[in-house]
Amino acid sequence: LKMGIDAGGTLIKIAYKEEASASLEFINFPSARMQEAVSWIMQHAPKAKVSITGGKAALLQSYLSQNEISTIVEFDATCSGVQYLLRDIKTAPEAFVLTNCGTGTSIHYTDPNKHYRLGGSGVGGGTLIGLSYLLTGIGDFNEIIHTAKNGNRERVDLKVSHIYEGAVPPIPGDLTASNFGNVRLDGSNTREVADLLASVMGLVGETVTTASVLAAGQCGVSSIVYIGSSFVGNGLLQDIVTGYTKLRGAEAVFLDHGPFSGAIGAWLSL
Ligand code: ATP
Ligand code: MG
Repeated sequence: LKMGIDAGGTLIKIAYKEEASASLEFINFPSARMQEAVSWIMQHAPKAKVSITGGKAALLQSYLSQNEISTIVEFDATCSGVQYLLRDIKTAPEAFVLTNCGTGTSIHYTDPNKHYRLGGSGVGGGTLIGLSYLLTGIGDFNEIIHTAKNGNRERVDLKVSHIYEGAVPPIPGDLTASNFGNVRLDGSNTREVADLLASVMGLVGETVTTASVLAAGQCGVSSIVYIGSSFVGNGLLQDIVTGYTKLRGAEAVFLDHGPFSGAIGAWLSL
């Protein structure tokens, strides 16, 4: 049994195959409860060949004394995992920007021959959870995404069309002029929890998209592949990112199992 592991800041992602003919299976554990992942690995695959990547790779490795372990650089693993997942897509772009919205966000240029990191942003999935918690007291990822679905950003965020009231704006009116910029302009004193969470989602999604679109322009590509667990079960964030990417003239691509790209890349290296 071979096992690829991406031990990130928030989640430990595992990709593994029982037999060569089987399909890849996936599971994740919170990095904060690393012992659960260790127990699962020791129970499930005490003799497995393991490849680990991610910021917590060294820490996880120190708990796995029984396995034969190698490590792989996070960005190499992620990019090779993404190339592997793209093989299943007919209209896959050759060259693209790869945006990994994990705890933080990392942005890369990728084509079949090379990849390099363009930059990143501290605004990512960790921001989504942290800001949501500070504003509403809700800090559970699934509760955040469930509640945010019913939110309305109108009374929190300021759109370009709000500012250009009654006039034709020089850029699309649907672009956000100021995330949370309507809070002190709109007369209301209280906001619904759902509205605040939807606006946090907007802030994260639009920041990540804006950085990615600028990166794509800089490298002359028009496709952006978005991965990272921030998108898991999170249709709202996917919609914000897809819509905003389109509005800015590029195309957003999401991959099934995209959040496991790093784990898949580690698995491929075995
Ligand atoms: P990094 O790559 O920055 O070190 P990571 O690899 O751990 O971090 P991901 O697993 O890609 O990052 O994404 C983590 C984010 O995914 C969280 O910040 C949160 O927004 C979201 N998320 C999705 N599922 C969960 C979950 N079950 N528990 C906590 N956060 C989750
Ligand atoms: Mg990661």
